[in-house]
Amino acid sequence: MIEIAEAQRLIAETAVVLPPRRVRLEDAVGQQLRADIVADVDSPPWDRAMMDGFAVSAADFPAPSAQADDSTAAHEIVELDVAAERAAGDAAGLTVCPGRCVRIMTGAPVPPGADAIVPIERAIDGTAAAHAGSRVRLQDPRFRIGQHIARQGDSFRAGQTVLRAGVRLAAPQLGLAAEAGAGHVVCSVPPRVAIIATGSELVPVGVVPAYGQTRNSNGPMLAAAVNECGAEALPLGIAGDKPEPLRAAIAQGLAADMLLLSGGVSAGDYDLVPGALAAAGVECVFHKVRLKPGKPIWFGVFRRAAAAPTLVFGLPGNPVSSLVCFELFVRPALAIQAGQSAAAGQRPVFPAQLLAAVKGNAKRPVYHPCTLTQEPAGLTAEPLPWGGSADLLGLSRANGLMFLPAGCGELAVGETVTVLSFDSLSNQAE
Ligand code: AMP
Ligand code: MG
Repeated sequence: MIEIAEAQRLIAETAVVLPPRRVRLEDAVGQQLRADIVADVDSPPWDRAMMDGFAVSAADFPAPSAQADDSTAAHEIVELDVAAERAAGDAAGLTVCPGRCVRIMTGAPVPPGADAIVPIERAIDGTAAAHAGSRVRLQDPRFRIGQHIARQGDSFRAGQTVLRAGVRLAAPQLGLAAEAGAGHVVCSVPPRVAIIATGSELVPVGVVPAYGQTRNSNGPMLAAAVNECGAEALPLGIAGDKPEPLRAAIAQGLAADMLLLSGGVSAGDYDLVPGALAAAGVECVFHKVRLKPGKPIWFGVFRRAAAAPTLVFGLPGNPVSSLVCFELFVRPALAIQAGQSAAAGQRPVFPAQLLAAVKGNAKRPVYHPCTLTQEPAGLTAEPLPWGGSADLLGLSRANGLMFLPAGCGELAVGETVTVLSFDSLSNQAE
C-alpha cells in the first residue's frame, strides 16, 4: 500500500501527452494548440474602409492643426464630385483626387489617392444618397487623415506568428487562425477513455434490480466525470466476473488512450481484474493506496510500439470510492494526456473552518463529503452525514470533499481543514 502523493507521482511519471492531430478549425475548440500559426497574408490584406461613406482626399479638408483650436475651419462644408462607387468586393481601378471622392461601403478597398473616409452621417443637405455623377456636401468637424481606414498589415503581417503553441483554442483564436489562412490546426486531442463496469451482479440502469442485482451507477457516473474533464468517454457496458467476458472487454478497452474499470480489484474470490489485466499484458504500477474511501485502486500501463501507452485504472466498485479515486488520480492523468500539467487537472483545494466536529480514521486519510460555503468571514466546511463508500446520496449533497489526515482523531468546530472543491470557488476564495 502506498501513500496518495506517491500514487500521484507514479501516475504523473507514467502518463505521456498524446500525439497531436491535425484537425479542422471547428473541431479544435477547447484543445491546446501544438504548433505555431504563421499568417500567410497581411491583415487587412489591403487598406480597408471601416465605415460606409465617402473616400476623400485630405487635401479637401482643413489641416488637423486648424481643428485643434476648434477654429471655424473645422466646421467647413466641403462639396465634392462623387466619381464612382465601391462596394465590398469591388476592386476596379478608381482614383480619388482633390475635388473628387468615391462613395464607399464598409469592407471595400480604399481607392488610390484617398486618405480618409467621411462617414455617410456627415453628408448634409440631403446629399447622403449621392451616387456617381452627383455631388455630396460633407461636414466633418473631427476630420483626421486616415480616419475610418484600417491600413494593410495594421493587425498582423504575412510571416508573423499570430498564435503560439500552448494556447487554448476557443472561438476567437480559431477565427484568427482562419484570418491567417490556417484551415486546419495541429492541436491536442481529447483522450478517449473506455469504461468497463465489472460485476456479475450489475444490471443496466433501465432494469429494476432483482434480488442480488445492483444497478450500474458507476458506468454513467464515470462517463460523466470523463466528459466533464473535456475527454471523450467510450462506455463499454458491463462485464461479468468471468474470465472470458472480462478478457474480451479489456482487449477492446486497451485500444483507447485510457481504460477505466470499476469493481473487481479488492481481495474477494471474484476480483478478477488485476489478473485479467496482467494476462492482457498490462504492467501493474501500483495496487492499493492508503486512502478512505478508495483503498483498492489499481493502476497500470499498457505499452506498445509507436503509440502512446494506454493508462489503465482499476477503480473500486463502490461508487463513492470510484469517484474519489477519479478525482485524485484519473483527473491529473487526463490532464497530462491532453497536454496540460497534472496540477491543471486537479480540483482546487481551499482551507476552510469546520462548522461541526468530525472524526478521522486512525490509519488512513479520509475524504469526507462536505458543503463548502463562502461566508463573509471566510470559507466554512460542514461535514455531511455520510454512510461510507456506497453512499452516493450523501455524496450528491456535497460540493466538496474535506481531507482528514490519518490519525487526526476528532477535529473540533473552528479547526481548519482543507477541502477539495467541486465548484470553482477561486474568485471568492482570493
Ligand atoms: P467490488 O469492488 O467489485 O468488490 O464491488 C464493491 C461494491 O461495489 C459491491 O457492493 C458492488 O456491487 C458495488 N459495485 C461494483 N460495481 C458497481 C457499479 N458499476 N455500480 C454500482 N455499484 C457497483
Ligand atoms: Mg465486484
